[in-house]
Amino acid sequence: MDTTPTRECCALTDCPWCGRADLVCRFCAGTGRWSPERPVTDSDGMIVWERITEECRMCVGTGKEHRHTPLG
Ligand SMILES: [Zn+2]
Ligand SMILES: [Zn+2]
Repeated sequence: MDTTPTRECCALTDCPWCGRADLVCRFCAGTGRWSPERPVTDSDGMIVWERITEECRMCVGTGKEHRHTPLG
């Protein structure tokens, strides 16, 4: 297993958030992965919750805090 799954950077070049290392993503605690639950419909038509692991959407897998508003 790769112990450093996080990306260096998100898609933005010159991203002010990726440039800092002092703020880790609150949603994945800096791992770049998170495990949300998502509803799936089973064969009987029942909604069940399934835990999935995916790239953290809040930091795009960088493990660094990202917000929708730029710094400053
Ligand atoms: Zn970024
Ligand atoms: Zn994250």
